[in-house]
This record gives sequence, structure tokens and C-alpha cells, in this order.
Amino acid sequence: MSAPNKSYDPVEVEALKPEEVERARDEAVAAFAAATSLDELKQAKVAHTGDRSALSLANREIGALPPHAKAAAGKLIGQARGAVNQALAKRQTELEAERDARVLVEEAVDVTLPYDRAPRGARHPLTTLAERIEDTFVAMGYSIASGPEVEAEWLNFDALNLGPDHPARSMQDTFFVAAADGSPDSGLVMRTQTSPVQIRSMLEKQPPLYAVSVGRVYRTDELDATHTPVFRQVEGIAVDEGITFGDLKGTIELLVSKLIGDELELRWRPSYFPFTEPSAEVDLQCFVCRGASVGNPDAPCRTCSSEGWIELGGCGVVNPRVLVASGVDPERYSGFAFGLGLERILMNRHNVADMRDMVEGDVRFTLPFGMEI
Ligand SMILES: [Zn+2]
Repeated sequence: MSAPNKSYDPVEVEALKPEEVERARDEAVAAFAAATSLDELKQAKVAHTGDRSALSLANREIGALPPHAKAAAGKLIGQARGAVNQALAKRQTELEAERDARVLVEEAVDVTLPYDRAPRGARHPLTTLAERIEDTFVAMGYSIASGPEVEAEWLNFDALNLGPDHPARSMQDTFFVAAADGSPDSGLVMRTQTSPVQIRSMLEKQPPLYAVSVGRVYRTDELDATHTPVFRQVEGIAVDEGITFGDLKGTIELLVSKLIGDELELRWRPSYFPFTEPSAEVDLQCFVCRGASVGNPDAPCRTCSSEGWIELGGCGVVNPRVLVASGVDPERYSGFAFGLGLERILMNRHNVADMRDMVEGDVRFTLPFGMEI
């Protein structure tokens, strides 16, 4: 700032020359117009209206002017500052409007977009299959029976005509349950078949008896593509007057037709089970090769080991000894019984090639089956 001086001529003060003031004003207005963001405008504001801006410095010079010159100089600077502030406010409004419009676009919420749902699970296909089988039998007038998985050895073997020395007793690789004192002779086993439910049903109810039971059974098998130590059987028993093998055949054929369809053939093979006589094993035509792999080494089938058939399970006419053990008069009543592997049915129904997929609990296996109820 210049020193007070009575003879001071404002025209001599460089900063207060009108052309200098106009230049400072125009520079400020141009700088505001050139600002493309609110940040840039803020910097231009500091540069052109702040304490060290040309107009502020010029304003300070007014104080040193002689009184008669102050008014004119004040008016000059005041008009310039007014124009600068107006330009600043105008640009500020413009840039704020631009920002608001941009934010509206950038932060817009699309309410039609799907939100992050918790993934929906699926029921295990063996569970839905078990229910489907039960429904099929309930429609035929059967009742649903069940029994414990830790079963009395007597019900699992002896009552089914598998005495302690019966060779077939060792055919089934059994998990024996130790007694509380650690001795292996607890009289309990993990049931190796659902057949003890037959005995339980007959002990509970006199004929006519039509019962079906789906449940887990246990064998000391290693887990591989076609074996699992825990698997499911569907067990059925019908005891009434005049029941024949023909009734059994018709029942199994109806079940397979309902579950898998009529396209695949069934095969009946004579077999042996201590608790049925006569006994048979039921095979279903291989769903992969339909028998084309048999005797055809060029096109082997892994699913059926090129045999053309997949075993579904065993069945037969109930052995009169079993009826007697269950308190049923074999002179008056006869019956049939069957036990089918649920996993095998699922393999045929849904072309599942590896049994391990069914027990490993991977949701990627169950999800494609969806929420079938
Ligand atoms: Zn095959």
C-alpha cells in the first residue's frame, strides 16, 4: 500500500488504473467460466477474490487516496467486484446443477434389478424319491411302517430265518454294536436290511397286512461308484389270504412303471433268500446301453459292466417259517416281500452314474433336482 499523500493522484496508482481493474475483472470472469468443476471454481475463487487477488490489493490502495479520489476509486473497484461475484455465483449455480444431475444418473437405483437373495436349497432327491414311493403304495392301500436303524440282532437275522449258523448270515457284512460295557455281545446291530420291519409289522398287526417302509441300512462296504456303507431300501410286505408270486410281480411292475416308466424291461431271476421261498431278484434293463453292450466289446458300458441289466433288489413269497416266527398262521395266510435299493432306482430314474454323489452332501448335486415336493 502506498503511503498517505494529499496530492496523491489516483491515476498514478497502477493497481487502480481503470484498465488494470477491468483486466483483473475480466481475468476473474474468464477463470470462473473456464472452471469445469466445483473444485476448480473454488481455486479460481481464491485466486481472484481472495486477500492476495488483484482486486483486493487494489481495494486496499483506496485507503491511501486523497478524500476526493476515494469515491471514484471505490465505485470502480466496487463495480468490478460486483461483476466478479455475480459471475462466480452464476458459475457456482451452473456447476452445482451439473453435479446434481450427474449424481442422479450415477447413483440411480434400478429397482428392477434382482437383489442378492440367500441361495435357495433343494431337497435331497433320495428323500423326494422315498416320498414318491410311499405315495405310490399308500394309493394301493398300504400303510407306512418304520423301524429303528440300530436293530435287535434277532429281528435282523433270526426272525428272518437266518439262524446263528446260517451261512447267509455272513453274506451280509454287518456292523455290530458294542454293549455299554464294551463287550461285542450287545445283541444289537446296525440293520443290514429293512426286512426286520416286516417282522415288526407282522408282530404288531394280524393279516391282512400291507405295509411299506423306506429307510437306511448299513453294510461294511467301502464307498465307491456302485457301493456305499449306508444306503436306502424300500421294503414291502403283503400278507393276506391267497397271495401269490403273481401279486408280487404285478406290484413291482406297477412301482417301476410309476417311478421310471415303461420303456425299460424288467427281468426276474431265481435267487435265494432265507426269508422267502421261492425267491427272485429283479433287474432293470440298463438305462445307458439298454443291453447293447452285451457281447459287444467295442461298446462297453460302465454303468452295467456290459451286462445289460442293473439289479434293483430281491423279493419272494414269504417263507412259512418267517410267518410262524411272527405269529401268523401259514396254513391260512401267505404273503410276499421285497426289498429294493433306492439308490439304484435313483440312478435309473435320473441317470446318476456315481453313487458317491448321493452321499457326499454337495449342494451342486441336489440343486438341479430343485424343490420337488
Ligand atoms: Zn449298460
